[in-house]
Amino acid sequence: LHGRLEIEDEHDELGRMATVLNSLLSRLERSFAQLHRFTADAAHELKTPLTSIRAVGEGVLEGEQSPAAYREAVSSMLEETSRLNQTVEGLLLLSKAEAGQIVVQPTRFDLRELVDEIVALLDVLIDERRVTIRQIGAEAAQTPVSADRTLVRTCVLNVLHNAVKFSPEGGVITVAYESREENMLRLSILDEGPGIAESDRQRVFERFFRVRAVRASGADGAGLGLAIAMLAIEANHGKIYFDAREGEGSLCYIEIPAPAVA
Ligand code: ADP
Repeated sequence: LHGRLEIEDEHDELGRMATVLNSLLSRLERSFAQLHRFTADAAHELKTPLTSIRAVGEGVLEGEQSPAAYREAVSSMLEETSRLNQTVEGLLLLSKAEAGQIVVQPTRFDLRELVDEIVALLDVLIDERRVTIRQIGAEAAQTPVSADRTLVRTCVLNVLHNAVKFSPEGGVITVAYESREENMLRLSILDEGPGIAESDRQRVFERFFRVRAVRASGADGAGLGLAIAMLAIEANHGKIYFDAREGEGSLCYIEIPAPAVA
C-alpha cells in the first residue's frame, strides 16, 4: 500500500483520476494504521487483567494459605474478571455501533429523573470520595427530552462516573440544565479534578485513550467510557464535548434533543 500513481498532470482525465486514487490510498493507509493501533491497544487492555489473575492464582497455589488469604485472592481475581468483562462489553458495543447495529428507540422522558437515578447508582463511590453533587437550573429541564433512554443513560453515567472518579476527596460536582435554541437541552457536568488539557479535549473520545498521567497512576478504566458515551449520544442526534473552564476541573457538555410538544 505504499505505492502511488505517478500521473500528476491534473489537467487531463487520467491525472485527475490519479489524484482521486492517491487520496483514497492515503485514507486506506490511515485506516489500516488505526486498525493496527486499535488491535494492539485492545490486546494490551485484555492482557493486563489476565496477567494479574494468573499471578494471583499462582501465588495461592504456592504453599499453605490462611482462609483469609484465600478469600482475598479470590476477591482480587473476581475484581479483575469484572474489569475484563467491562472491557469486552465495551468493545462489543463499539463494534456493534460500527456495524450499524445499534437499535435506537426514542421515547420522551424526564432528564432530571434519569440524572437522579444515575447519582443513586454511583452512591457508593460518591460516599467513598465524599463528593457532593449539586444540581442547578432544573427548571430548564421541564420539557422532556426525546431520545433512547438507555443510550442517554449510558452516556451520562460514563461522564458522571469519570467526574466522581477524578474528583478530589470532598470535591463538588455541579450538574446544570440549560435550554438551548433549536429544541435542545444541554446538560453540563463540572468537576474539581485535574481537568483535561486543551490538546486532549478531542482525544479523550478516542478508544483506549487515557491521559498519560492517569494511565501512569494506575487508576482503573480502559479508556472506552467516553468513546461509548459519544457514540451513544450521537446515535440520538445529540452532542458531547469538553470545554475550557477557568481554574481547575473539567467541564463536559451533553446536548440532547428536547422538541417542544406539538
Ligand atoms: P476511562 O475508563 O479511562 O475513564 P474514558 O474514556 O472514560 O476512560 O476517559 C478517557 C480519559 O479521559 C481518562 O482516562 C482520563 O485521562 C480523561 N478524563 C475523562 N474524564 C475526566 C475528568 N472528569 N477529569 C479529568 N480527566 C478525565
